[in-house]
Amino acid sequence: YQRLAGRTTNEVLQLYAARDQQMKLQRSSGVTQLHGAIKKRLKQDLKSLHSFALELSKDFQRQSKTCLYQVLAAVQGIQLQNEAMQIFQIKAFDLEQSLQEVTERYEKEKQKRKALHNSLVELRGNIRVHCRIRPLLSFDDAAGYSVSQDRQRNFSEKVAYAADDETVLVKCSRPGHASVNKTFQFERVYNDLESQDAVFEDVAPLLTSLLDGYNVCIMAYGQTGSGKTYTMLGPQLEGNLAFSIEDKSELGIIPRATKEVFRLISEKPPGSYWVEVSVVEVYNNEIFDLLAKDSCGKVFGVKRDVVTTREGKSDVPLLTHETVENASEFLHLVNKGLQLRVTHPTLVHAHSSRSHLVVTLTITTVVFGDNFGTLWEDEQTSQRLNKEASCTFPQKMRDNKSNSSSRASSPVQLEAAEKMKQVKTRLQLVDLAGSECVGMSGVTGAALRETSFINRSLSALADVLGAIAEQRAHVPYRNSKLTHLLQDSVGGDAKLLVMLCISPGQKYLTESMQSLGFGTRARQVQRGQVKKKNFPVLSKGK
Ligand code: ADP
Ligand code: MG
Repeated sequence: YQRLAGRTTNEVLQLYAARDQQMKLQRSSGVTQLHGAIKKRLKQDLKSLHSFALELSKDFQRQSKTCLYQVLAAVQGIQLQNEAMQIFQIKAFDLEQSLQEVTERYEKEKQKRKALHNSLVELRGNIRVHCRIRPLLSFDDAAGYSVSQDRQRNFSEKVAYAADDETVLVKCSRPGHASVNKTFQFERVYNDLESQDAVFEDVAPLLTSLLDGYNVCIMAYGQTGSGKTYTMLGPQLEGNLAFSIEDKSELGIIPRATKEVFRLISEKPPGSYWVEVSVVEVYNNEIFDLLAKDSCGKVFGVKRDVVTTREGKSDVPLLTHETVENASEFLHLVNKGLQLRVTHPTLVHAHSSRSHLVVTLTITTVVFGDNFGTLWEDEQTSQRLNKEASCTFPQKMRDNKSNSSSRASSPVQLEAAEKMKQVKTRLQLVDLAGSECVGMSGVTGAALRETSFINRSLSALADVLGAIAEQRAHVPYRNSKLTHLLQDSVGGDAKLLVMLCISPGQKYLTESMQSLGFGTRARQVQRGQVKKKNFPVLSKGK
């Protein structure tokens, strides 16, 4: 202001303008400086951003390259895998094919083996012995008071095995002695895992013989609890003597054989065959008819007797024969009869049977007199059966009660029926009473009497088989009702199958050895070579 004092307005204005100018200049140089700094900084930032972006893009390139390599490697891997897969597929296909070939070859070999085995069995004679070893069961380790201390030790130990399908191996050990392995050979041995199906598979071919005109007998032999009833009938119902027919896979030989007989018959011309059933029980050497009915139609067991006919055949007069048309009718009938079986609980098994059960299927073949020789291709068979054929016509036809279409009913048909001949063949299916020793079951009194009858009948059976083996002129069939009843299916050219049933435990070693001994003796029975019979083929031209 001192400088301004005394100056004119113009000068002042000029001074102010100059000052303004100066300040402006000063300000603009500051801005320029700032601008320069900012520009420099921006440049730096841009540079580092650029280098960062460059780095990033390089990194990205690197990474994408790696990824690409990975993808390529993966694609290559997949291609390789695909190729390998194709090779594997080809190999698997080849293997599958060769497996199929091997299986087919195996099946063929098995069939061949079976056929050879069957011819071997045929050559061995009419008696075959199979042996079934049942599994160890819960009641096997229950103590029995008559079992000696020695035997009670390790008594649930398994000692009987199927070494292969023809050999039983028994480990025999006595205290103080080294154990000895004993082997027994039979036509077929079933291990504890083999099903009812497997057992029946080997039994079924016998039934073909039945329709070829041979009598057939299948009997289960063994101590109580060894699986005879299970094998012959199937698992028994709880607290009942009947057997369960619900579970078809568990059915035993008797129901399966009946089904097979009906199946074989269904392949024959209708009306030429029919089946009658009888169910008897041999108890204390007496025969009870389990299908006999009283006047009210109620079923009750009545005593019958067995006789020898003039032709030397065994026969049970007045025995009830029921005609059955199919397997299920048969099952219900047999199950009804079974309710009457006599039993006495022994220590071995609560529902042990103390009697022999014999279920007989009588198959009657009807042939017109003139056509007799044409039914059986094999001349010998037809000659043999022709001798046995009776000229009477079936009871059912005489009664004319049946409503079945296969039966004769009109007078014309009855007249035709008179010209008929009939041949009867018998299938006897036997569930024998337990073969155990008396001491084993701890029985006394009436049960002891039962046991002695059982023992006598079983030894009579052994004697009969022995006499046949030695080809003795006299076979003591009549020593017991059991053997007398079975005479026609055990002797002559009948075919017998003994199914030995064995409990595998140490506890039953003595009984098992006894059964195996019985089977071995029965196997030695040779009745000459049996000629192979042809299937009956009905001549179509006649
Ligand atoms: P048995 O008639 O000889 O006295 P069972 O047939 O009554 O003997 O058999 C005794 C028990 O063993 C039964 O409970 C039966 O179900 C069972 N059993 C027998 N054999 C077999 C087997 N192979 N598989 C399974 N259980 C069996
Ligand atoms: Mg039984």
